[in-house]
Amino acid sequence: MASAKYIFVTGGVTSSLGKGIIASSLAKLLQARGFTVTIQKFDPYINIDPGTLNPYEHGECYVTDDGAETDLDLGHYERFLNSPTSQANNVTTGRIYNSVITKERQGAYLGKTVQVIPHITDEIKRNICALGETGKYDIVITEIGGCVGDIESLPFIEAVRQFKWDVGANNAIVIHLTLIPYLKSAGELKTKPTQHSVKELLETGIQPDILVCRTERPLPQEIRKKLALFCNVHINSVIEAADAETIYDVPLLMKKEKLDERVLIKMKLPHDQEPNLESWKEFLGRLKNPSEEVTIGLVGKYVELRDAYKSIAEAFIHAGAHNECKVNIRWIHSETLVPDNVETLFHDLDGVLVAPGFGERGIDGKIAAIRFVRENKIPFFGICLGMQCAVVEFARNVLGLEGAVSREWNSQAIHPVIDMMEDQKNVTEKGGTMRLGAYPCEIKKGSKAYHIYGKTKIMERHRHRYEFNNQYLESFEKAGMIPTGINPDNGLVEIVEIKDHPWFVGVQFHPELKSTVVCPHPLFVQFVKAAVEYATKRMVVR
Ligand code: GLN
Repeated sequence: MASAKYIFVTGGVTSSLGKGIIASSLAKLLQARGFTVTIQKFDPYINIDPGTLNPYEHGECYVTDDGAETDLDLGHYERFLNSPTSQANNVTTGRIYNSVITKERQGAYLGKTVQVIPHITDEIKRNICALGETGKYDIVITEIGGCVGDIESLPFIEAVRQFKWDVGANNAIVIHLTLIPYLKSAGELKTKPTQHSVKELLETGIQPDILVCRTERPLPQEIRKKLALFCNVHINSVIEAADAETIYDVPLLMKKEKLDERVLIKMKLPHDQEPNLESWKEFLGRLKNPSEEVTIGLVGKYVELRDAYKSIAEAFIHAGAHNECKVNIRWIHSETLVPDNVETLFHDLDGVLVAPGFGERGIDGKIAAIRFVRENKIPFFGICLGMQCAVVEFARNVLGLEGAVSREWNSQAIHPVIDMMEDQKNVTEKGGTMRLGAYPCEIKKGSKAYHIYGKTKIMERHRHRYEFNNQYLESFEKAGMIPTGINPDNGLVEIVEIKDHPWFVGVQFHPELKSTVVCPHPLFVQFVKAAVEYATKRMVVR
């Protein structure tokens, strides 16, 4: 195909309607019809990227192979499409202004007054086509963050209006996602908020081509007719998006509503071939008919906001389906854990995952949790900070190194078994300065990691400043905590395992970021398997 077609997804009425899931589901359907598709997200906030945001603000920060710190919706894009995203897939207002201001300082505007229109909107338009122009994609879906009518998103909406005009109606369409609330007292679904939101969009010069309506109840024909009439869309372009049991049902719901077909017709693309969703349906079949059930404790300090651990929770869904096992997550706040209550809180768990994180808060709880699962041979999986805590726990309680810590919690440490990476020591800026993105790791043959991955060379994504302190390597190894994955270029420890434990694995990287529906991550798959085995044993002992 000569040049890409563009689909924009805007949102109205309220936030949190699931634009990312709708965009991902549409992309999945188009991909299943043989098109190459990518999705990008434009976020209207002023941070250059979400890397400096507290997880309570915006949930997890998703890291791509090229080391971009991005919005968690990119995780959905990758999980649904099974293809990697990059920095180009996430653009913020901050990034747009940053590059316009940099160009201005370089004199690129030749003495002109630099303005929102045309300079900011031109920069947005340049980013809209950046992925399309690589020639790799037939279709580029752009999700515009926030709600239509927000002051912050105005330049993006204006850029979409101009872009649509520039490339013509068959080459760019707008899908508007709205809410049709059900009023209990009236016993009716209400279309007024959607009418208002479409009017708002019309005021900016954009006529949506398709309406996707989130609703708790089925949309009757009269409601669809009314929406079509008031919002100038064809009745077939009023798409019902009913609440789904899982996000992975949404592609099938959208197919039933023919969202993909409407899109292809509007963009004059072939639509005679049905999407091939065999592997997707197979996944759903396994997800919904589990023969096993396990409960995993997820120990972290942001558990009040589940979005902070989005990719971990989704990786458990993929790995659970693979094992035909329902994985229940017990969210455990690390600050509530003390050595005395661990046994009571953990007595019915089949495995424990200690989550990534930053800073000292909640560390003692994580270390108490790890000591308990290590001594009681309960499957353990430590990710990034979780791995670092496992190293510290081992140093304190097995090697007898009293006061062993990570340098992150105590800069004057006597035994910094986790230390700051050499190349981080002179870093003063916070944004985008961690060790980020994909790095190679070499796995030792014969290790559990080797058994899990089935190969010696892997690439995994990172986001950290601290590392295993190799000065202590020998003592750890002698006492039974083995480094089984090493970065071949700089010797950084990437994976640790405990020899005499059924499943105790800590990883410095973030495997959760690479788990997809089609390719569940092997570490999660095997951790769940170990939990199933442990659960069976637990039953027998009882
Ligand atoms: N705070 C730790 C570090 O910077 C761990 C980071 C993480 O868990 N992602 O090394």
